[in-house]
Amino acid sequence: MKILVLNAGSSSHKCRLYELNQQNRDPAPPLWQGQLDWTHQPGQVELSVETAEGKSQQTAVETTDRTEGLKALLETLIEGPTAVIEALGEIDAVGHRVVHGGEDYQQSVVIDAAVKDAIASLAPLAPAHNPVNLQGIEAIEKLLGNVPQVAVFDTAFHAQMPEAAATYPGPYDWLDQGIRRYGFHGTSHQYCAERVAQLQGADLADLRLITCHLGNGCSLAAIRQGRSVDTTMGFTPLDGLMMGSRSGAVDPSILIYLQRQQGYTPDQLDQLLNKESGLKGLSGISNDLRAVSEAKSKGNPRAQLAYDVFIHRLRRGIGSMLASLGGLDALVFTGGIGEHSPPVRQAACEAFGFLNLQLDAQANQHTDEYRDIATAESAVRIWAIHTQEEWAIAQDCLRLL
Ligand code: ADP
Repeated sequence: MKILVLNAGSSSHKCRLYELNQQNRDPAPPLWQGQLDWTHQPGQVELSVETAEGKSQQTAVETTDRTEGLKALLETLIEGPTAVIEALGEIDAVGHRVVHGGEDYQQSVVIDAAVKDAIASLAPLAPAHNPVNLQGIEAIEKLLGNVPQVAVFDTAFHAQMPEAAATYPGPYDWLDQGIRRYGFHGTSHQYCAERVAQLQGADLADLRLITCHLGNGCSLAAIRQGRSVDTTMGFTPLDGLMMGSRSGAVDPSILIYLQRQQGYTPDQLDQLLNKESGLKGLSGISNDLRAVSEAKSKGNPRAQLAYDVFIHRLRRGIGSMLASLGGLDALVFTGGIGEHSPPVRQAACEAFGFLNLQLDAQANQHTDEYRDIATAESAVRIWAIHTQEEWAIAQDCLRLL
């Protein structure tokens, strides 16, 4: 079965084509992967495409329209140096990462008109994502006709969190309004948990795990018996850990103060907390940890502070997940930072030495698809795992269809 997976961001759209069969459940590289990027030239989208056989191409198209961009990208599947199929009709199904599924969508679903309405109605809760997820779905309808499409929700894995973890201690009627903790990055947390169980040769039901998804967005999940029992993101992906340009949790009175004393509007607060905070806001350098780390190593005090706060909040978050779990069998790092930053993994682990959680300093230096980076004596396994959200979405399509 050939499955195309789409993952939409506010100014990007990632696509991957997988060949899947029921027998092989190990993650396989995509036959083809392509990305649209609108961030470089105004009015222009950059296309970059790569195949499993190492063929690649880069082009740019004058358009701001997502359907037009996707049309140009899908043409590279059937024409030119990166062609891997003869006709788009060979695609059996399309899976979409959808950020917010609200309370009603607790697992992946085949997309119909009602699902599209639900994704649209949840846009106020995920304004940067749900509208572009829907645009991707509608673009595929236009470009591929009535190929089956599946929505895989970032919130679904956390949908069964205990009430005490999911409820904000505000007025009771917040619950009636759907104001509760949903959690995000669910596909990644679930994939990593299942992969760790497989790699340890253990039953996931027997493991207590903390998965740390540290990318541009950062979140932790506490996983027991294969289920998320707590997570750091909440009503929106702004809650919890400090991130690239997002603040994570801050005292809500800061927002009241800024509104009253400095006349901030909701849109300005949104911009401030989502785009101008976190590593970028504190360091004044970048939302990218690599740039912040480089400035820190040259003695930049704001970069040092940004890094220190990032680590402090990560440790504090792991500590709170630990309390929700009541014990720990494995600590798992994933996402761009989790997979590629040995110093962050080391700093996070140092705080938990009292659990006899011991990082192997040498193993920690390597970046593989997956690696156990704990010492043999460590009471807790420590893993760095390359997350494969798109592959997990393709698996869900295969299962549903
Ligand atoms: P997204 O959350 O957008 O999917 P990624 O998971 O790719 O992003 O993570 C992106 C972040 O990963 C970058 O902003 C950067 O901070 C971090 N990162 C990537 N490679 C490294 C590295 N070698 N060292 C430290 N941080 C890295």
